[in-house]
Amino acid sequence: MTRQTSRILIQRACVLTMDAALGDLTEGDVLLEDGRITAVGDQLSAEGAQRIDAAGMILIPGLIDSHTHMWQGPLKGLGAGNWGMADYQKHVFPLREKFGAEDMGDATFAAGVEMLDKGTTTVLDFCHNVMTPAHADQALAAHRRTGQRIVFGYGMLGSHGAPASEQDWRLAQVRELARTLDAKPTSLLRLGIAVGSLEYVGLAAMRREIETGRELGLPMSFHQNPPGQIRELHAAGLLGPDLLPVHANVATDEELAALAACGAGISFTVEGEFGGGRPMSIIGRAHRAGVTPSLGVDIPSRVAMDLFSQMRLTFHVMRAEEALAERLAGRWPLARRPGTPHAQPRHMLEYVTVNAARALGLGECLGRIAPGCIADLVLLRTDPYGMSVGDPAAHVALQASASDVDTVIVGGVVRKRGGELQDMDRAEAAAATRRVRSRVLAQ
Ligand SMILES: [Zn+2]
Repeated sequence: MTRQTSRILIQRACVLTMDAALGDLTEGDVLLEDGRITAVGDQLSAEGAQRIDAAGMILIPGLIDSHTHMWQGPLKGLGAGNWGMADYQKHVFPLREKFGAEDMGDATFAAGVEMLDKGTTTVLDFCHNVMTPAHADQALAAHRRTGQRIVFGYGMLGSHGAPASEQDWRLAQVRELARTLDAKPTSLLRLGIAVGSLEYVGLAAMRREIETGRELGLPMSFHQNPPGQIRELHAAGLLGPDLLPVHANVATDEELAALAACGAGISFTVEGEFGGGRPMSIIGRAHRAGVTPSLGVDIPSRVAMDLFSQMRLTFHVMRAEEALAERLAGRWPLARRPGTPHAQPRHMLEYVTVNAARALGLGECLGRIAPGCIADLVLLRTDPYGMSVGDPAAHVALQASASDVDTVIVGGVVRKRGGELQDMDRAEAAAATRRVRSRVLAQ
């Protein structure tokens, strides 16, 4: 589907640029031309541009999710009561082997529509369900149809017990896709690699995948669960700003220093971490160590597909961890002291905009509202109950919800306006979900 960009002037919004030089505009205008932001300022004029009156609304960069398995969209609720990773491994993960290529297309489409509707304009789709080349093709076709900005994390993990030689055809398809997919930063669909987990595939296989990704210039990510893996990858010379660890809950201070030194971030998936019963201090420790955190929904089979809930819960987890550390140190009742509390509401919005763009290798042109940046934007309503007192970024992180998403713009194309999707049908997404459930769950 070809979608036309238009010249758009957004007027009178409270603009949170997330750009260090531009800061916030209490009431400002933003001009979009040819899919880019071309001006940010006060009372801009733009003859003939389409106008969007955003009075009373907050304009933020489109939200960026750095880790979600979008194929799980139709499985929402299936892992609701899971207790630890064993339940997930027993009841949810094996279902991927029941997914046919058609299911991958339907599931990815349904998840993409829902995430766009809820203000997530970009996702690193960690697609660890590429059982055949057609599975990847169908997922990619669905992404083209939704027009969400996607880094497609091509999953290297095979089926349970599959021979290691399966890596060959997957890497061959990665090379083929790297030849055919447009790698321009403005491209809506970019290729990446969802590298196999070290504990499953071993260092030699992981090295081969990472070296292929580096040769092709692809962003990469991997699940980091057992202790010591970051140290092992560091010793093997494999860490880098293009390799995003997910979770990393048990990383030591030395491992965090290694990640910081090479410019790597981490993807923190707060509800996924809770479900696995993992240590939650990593998010605050990583931030303080200079490892830029970003956030992800991770598993739609248990976690709602919006980033507002992730921001809110992450903030309170960080504050709770800080309060616990103070209490254990005998500093009770809580009192402010230099550097404590560290976590601020505005950090959460940074995690899902500037930090996440950087994690996906798009830090130069995405995640901010500044001239030259890609025009991915979200307008949030604050009526009928009004905006918070104080920092509007705190309103976004702690008060707003997906139901406040009024307008979604991707690459200068208006995809949602006045709360209504413009070129997608919610009923079609729901029908795609039903088809997957019928085939995979026999429901
Ligand atoms: Zn995951």
